[in-house]
Amino acid sequence: PRLANQIAAGEVVERPASVVKELVENAIDAGGSRIEVELEAGGARLIRVRDDGGGIGEEDLPLALSRHATSKIVSLEELEGVASLGFRGEALASISSVSRLELTSNVDKDPTAGWRVVAEGRQMAPRVSPAPHPRGTSVTVRDLFFNTPARRKFLRTEKTEFGHVEEAFRRQALSRYDIGWTLRHNQKTIHQLRAGVDPASRERRIAALLGKAFLEHALHLDIEASGLRLWGWVGLPTHSRAQADQQYFFVNGRVVRDRLVAHAVRQAYRDVLFHGRHPVFVLYLEVDPAVVDVNVHPTKHEVRFRDGRLVHDFLFSSLHRALGEARA
Ligand code: ADP
Ligand code: MG
Repeated sequence: PRLANQIAAGEVVERPASVVKELVENAIDAGGSRIEVELEAGGARLIRVRDDGGGIGEEDLPLALSRHATSKIVSLEELEGVASLGFRGEALASISSVSRLELTSNVDKDPTAGWRVVAEGRQMAPRVSPAPHPRGTSVTVRDLFFNTPARRKFLRTEKTEFGHVEEAFRRQALSRYDIGWTLRHNQKTIHQLRAGVDPASRERRIAALLGKAFLEHALHLDIEASGLRLWGWVGLPTHSRAQADQQYFFVNGRVVRDRLVAHAVRQAYRDVLFHGRHPVFVLYLEVDPAVVDVNVHPTKHEVRFRDGRLVHDFLFSSLHRALGEARA
């Protein structure tokens, strides 16, 4: 089974950023209110994600590292309305097959309780031992790809890998304002974001993650129609140094790249604003989970709407109106 895991790992584990993404998704799913991400050497030496969520019980710890171990899907109906981010049950197994992984967790309030499981590459049976940990979970991934040298060689410079991690972190921090976040690299705090869902807290987070200039040249919008809600910030053309990559679109809290969405935004932007400007935005679309299929592909951020036309037209007209008013 470890070999199967290694093969599967190619899908999920591409680089440190993909590890961070999976571990943070688990931390979010665990219901944590604080998530800390810590790295060394761009994540090649160490990745640690710590949460204060529900934790994993002693007997479930080794199971969490086995393939298709997911505790997250019970029925097909549940799959339809799935609010949780991942349900494939193989991220931890895949990551542990190509690294030295330590999973420490405690389901108890008592901080002297807790258990740890250690897995190293293809080693068969993970060992479980007592290890004190505050309620919640820490996953430590050391020496990523230590046993797959070909893949290790594909890692870029520390700076590049960290850049990808920071981008993954940014997306996740933008998806949950109710969670407090920390990102550290080589003992240095890069981001420390306090939890808060009021407008001021949200804007503070946007400024911290995307820069003050983004906010200063952005329009806030919040529009609801036909069961859909769109809110967030769209850059105005006064932002002359807008970065093309500052485009974040979330559907029910999950970051999405979608042609239909991109098209609607681009079209509204082009219709109303000057040509030659990059649309920049952080937008949140909220829809009934029953009309959207978010897990078309586990790692690509794809989405499929039951009624694409409705969504496209709603996005286009909402943005068109908001931008038009801002311009007038
Ligand atoms: P999936 O998230 O797709 O279920 P994973 O391999 O990522 O699969 O995780 C396997 C299982 O381990 C999860 O279903 C969950 O039960 C448990 N788990 C992993 N990380 C955490 C965490 N941070 N807190 C609580 N449980 C976790
Ligand atoms: Mg997962």
